[in-house]
Amino acid sequence: MSAPSFLESVQIAFDRAAALTTHDPTLLRQIQACNAIYHVSFPLRRDDGSLEVIQAWRAQHSHHRLPTKGGIRYAPDVHKDEVVALASLMSYKCALVNVPFGGAKGGIRIDPRKYSVGELERITRRYTFELVRKNFIGPGLDVPAPDYGTSSREMAWIADTYAQLRPGELDAMACVTAKPVEQGGVEGRTEATGRGLVFGLQEIASDADLMKRLGLSPGLKGKRVIVQGLGNVGYYAAKFMIEAGAILVGVAEREGGIHAPDGIDLEALMVQRRATGTAMNFPGTSNVESSIATLELPCDILIPAALERQITRKNAGNIKAKIVAEGANGPTTALADEILFARNILVVPDVYLNAGGVTVSYFEWLKNLSHVRFGRMEKRFEEDAFARIIGAMESSTGKHFPDDERRKLVAGAGEEDLVNSGLLETMAESWREIQQTRGRLGSAVDIRTAAFVTAIDKIAITYQDLGIFP
Ligand code: NAD
Repeated sequence: MSAPSFLESVQIAFDRAAALTTHDPTLLRQIQACNAIYHVSFPLRRDDGSLEVIQAWRAQHSHHRLPTKGGIRYAPDVHKDEVVALASLMSYKCALVNVPFGGAKGGIRIDPRKYSVGELERITRRYTFELVRKNFIGPGLDVPAPDYGTSSREMAWIADTYAQLRPGELDAMACVTAKPVEQGGVEGRTEATGRGLVFGLQEIASDADLMKRLGLSPGLKGKRVIVQGLGNVGYYAAKFMIEAGAILVGVAEREGGIHAPDGIDLEALMVQRRATGTAMNFPGTSNVESSIATLELPCDILIPAALERQITRKNAGNIKAKIVAEGANGPTTALADEILFARNILVVPDVYLNAGGVTVSYFEWLKNLSHVRFGRMEKRFEEDAFARIIGAMESSTGKHFPDDERRKLVAGAGEEDLVNSGLLETMAESWREIQQTRGRLGSAVDIRTAAFVTAIDKIAITYQDLGIFP
């Protein structure tokens, strides 16, 4: 059997889950189908005066809820099916974590490292223009965000271009998320996917029975972790895992991997990589010949956070981790899933584990629509109320709290506190829902299938609510 493509793997995961539901087969076909795809080519004038044709896509997988939502990827091998696969995952992810959006994804076929900042800005602004022209972007239509190869910088260009083309549109800033905070972004969005991943793993690791079945002790403390990809998702996942007490024993990047059983100093590694362009030859570590080989090193938790199709039937048998925590979208193929399941390795799927990004993007969108920073109305009120309670406690007991403790007790919630608390609630609640589905279906069902069933059930209810399917 030839290895399934990324899109085929997503479709296999859907079909496995759909077979466990009782929904009308036509409704299931509608849920699975990609509703709209826009392919556009446009010319770019390069800095040296030459011209180049740029290929770009935007797929809106599901309009059962609007707006649709999903990142924009800049990578040299982006193609239509990849964008459709990513957009499909966004629909299931949003449904799973109760974010009221349909799924979408965009891609531009470029290697961003080969273009100047000025060229990237021209590409991004032109792409936005093309999306506006076809009504493929807007606060109530389709709201992009970053993905592989893009960041808040590109989102700021998109927001600015959109606002210029739609003068006077009050909610224009809600046309894209993960903007810099100064340009309408929300505190905590940059870190959100990595932070959500660690919140999710914390929930899972607190289940003593589940951890026992995997041969692990409860909690993240002391767990050996390998991360593939030190970009937005991978870096913050590694950082928050270390803060939770885990030990980063391996890192895989495009140039190869490094390994150190006693732990790697993440911040020092980032400094070296920024300065020299490589993670290799990092003091106190040994080099591993390739990114893929690094995935096979001994560890407890493996976090692929780079690209799809990294764990395939070729290497699934060699994975030593007990938990594969999908930071990237689609890092495990459908065939690899089967091998890992048979080997009692827990795959925590992308649709759940990397949903922190879209969750906090949802909060940013709400902030943009309400035109007020989270916490602005209540922070001072809470602080005054807490101070009165503490004051009453002090005067009735005759004892005083030390100054620093008093400060912590009376602190009201600021934007980042509220965002992180909403993210934690989302990850905890969604894990409970997946577990409930799994409880209903039986433990012979893997987590990905249980997550897909949960998502399909919710989308099916929405279609019924809309009166489209009786
Ligand atoms: P990014 O561009 O910030 O980082 C990607 C990193 O992977 C880079 O450091 C790159 O050098 C590295 N990389 C490339 N090829 C590699 C290889 N073969 N081996 C190891 N490392 C390699 O991208 P990102 O935003 O962190 O996205 C990574 C993955 O996470 C993608 O699958 C994306 O769809 C998914 N994701 C991203 C977000 C988000 O909020 N950014 C949210 C959910 C899911």
